[in-house]
Amino acid sequence: MTKNSLCDVLIIGAGPSGAVTAAILVQKGYQVTMLESTAFPRFSIGESLLPQAMEFLQLANLLDCVKEAGFQFKNGAAFAYHDHYTEFDFSQKFGGGFNSTFQVERAIFDKILADKAQEFGATIIYQQRVTNLEFTDKLHTVITCDETNNHHSYQARFVLDASGFARVLPNLLKLNRPSEFPPRMSIFTHISAKLDRQLFDQNKILISVHPKHADIWFWLIPLNDTKYSIGVVGEPHLLEKAQLTPEDQLMELIQQTPNLYTILKDISLTCPVRKITGYAQDVSTLYGKGFALLGNAGEFLDPVFSSGVTIALKSAVLAAETLDLELQGKEVGWQESFAKPLQKGVNTFKAYVRTWYTGELQQIIFSNRQPEEIKAKICAILAGYAWDETNDYATDARRKLSLLAKVCTTLGQSN
Ligand SMILES: Cc1cc2nc3c(=O)[nH]c(=O)nc-3n(C[C@H](O)[C@H](O)[C@H](O)COP(=O)(O)OP(=O)(O)OC[C@H]3O[C@@H](n4cnc5c(N)ncnc54)[C@H](O)[C@@H]3O)c2cc1C
Repeated sequence: MTKNSLCDVLIIGAGPSGAVTAAILVQKGYQVTMLESTAFPRFSIGESLLPQAMEFLQLANLLDCVKEAGFQFKNGAAFAYHDHYTEFDFSQKFGGGFNSTFQVERAIFDKILADKAQEFGATIIYQQRVTNLEFTDKLHTVITCDETNNHHSYQARFVLDASGFARVLPNLLKLNRPSEFPPRMSIFTHISAKLDRQLFDQNKILISVHPKHADIWFWLIPLNDTKYSIGVVGEPHLLEKAQLTPEDQLMELIQQTPNLYTILKDISLTCPVRKITGYAQDVSTLYGKGFALLGNAGEFLDPVFSSGVTIALKSAVLAAETLDLELQGKEVGWQESFAKPLQKGVNTFKAYVRTWYTGELQQIIFSNRQPEEIKAKICAILAGYAWDETNDYATDARRKLSLLAKVCTTLGQSN
């Protein structure tokens, strides 16, 4: 086993939450090492960003390099169900902030962030899979395994887990807790195609609902003029048929959904079709002595509102601010400075996810009677501004959405 010199902060994983935390901390003068199990660029799902995420990138001085990359522009989200079609344009949202963002190929996006964090001074060691760790009073030791099966140890004053769905620390420290949402699965791929722009808005993510199962939905995310990400989400028993390959399952579900099939009828699936199941997870705590959990290593809800990267970056910003104080020797409360503020927005998104699957939010979204000021407040959440204390559709989301759904149902029946 090789022993490496001590650093201030070790980060497990160099995805967006790891890279943004590293970028902020090295710019404050700390020695930060990221240990990443893969070699970048590598595929990752999670391609549609939200405008709120732009603020977090800006705060870490990472926005310019993302802008320079020329990613697909995104200015809103569109929803389709039978003959209902609703668009949310981020420029019409309640409150201030960014009105647009990007749809990104994550292999490229994640590498840009990681490279920039490295340029700012972070050390990244690729192909180092974290397998174990030991906490002592002051220093913590992380053990890794490299691609030739050699083991290495690293010491740090603090460890941040940004390992995404691998959830390294929750698994090692037994912090996992089941999510309140039932296990769902997703089948997805990239397609190369020239799609007819008359049929959909290239500047928006399109969420299409299956005509017979309102809890099965699809994303169509333009990545550039000729490359698209498509995927379907639903409970496994509704998506899987033993006799079908994932390619055939995905195509069959698309064919069952006329408004989406109209757009995609000429495509062929040439890239690998991937599946992911049971991704929603929760933990008993987001921090402990000498460690904190970032992004998906903490909690993941559901992909429907593209909130994953935004939540991951919010956790990165809050953790970096809190850790900065701790490393200066100041008394800090991780509950008050990190977990509680993070959870506020997570709970907002949770209310939107919950009401999407109960059907209440779909009732609202597909109603043609939404008052403009309410639509603007919901639009702000879809843009990621879930932490906005001035938006009652953020602070009191659960109650407001239930009430509004009832109004929409009554109005729908009186039509
Ligand atoms: C089907 C689906 C669709 C989604 N769509 C969207 C979307 O449109 N928009 C959106 O914002 N979010 C989306 N998400 C969520 C998004 O993928 C995640 O929220 C986001 O990637 C979280 O970032 P992260 O930095 O926490 O983790 P990740 O991006 O997963 O990064 C974790 C890193 O840790 C590394 N790692 C893992 N194990 C180890 C180890 N043992 N040692 C060292 N390194 C390790 C990994 O290789 C990886 O590079 C989607 C999720 C799913 C399941």
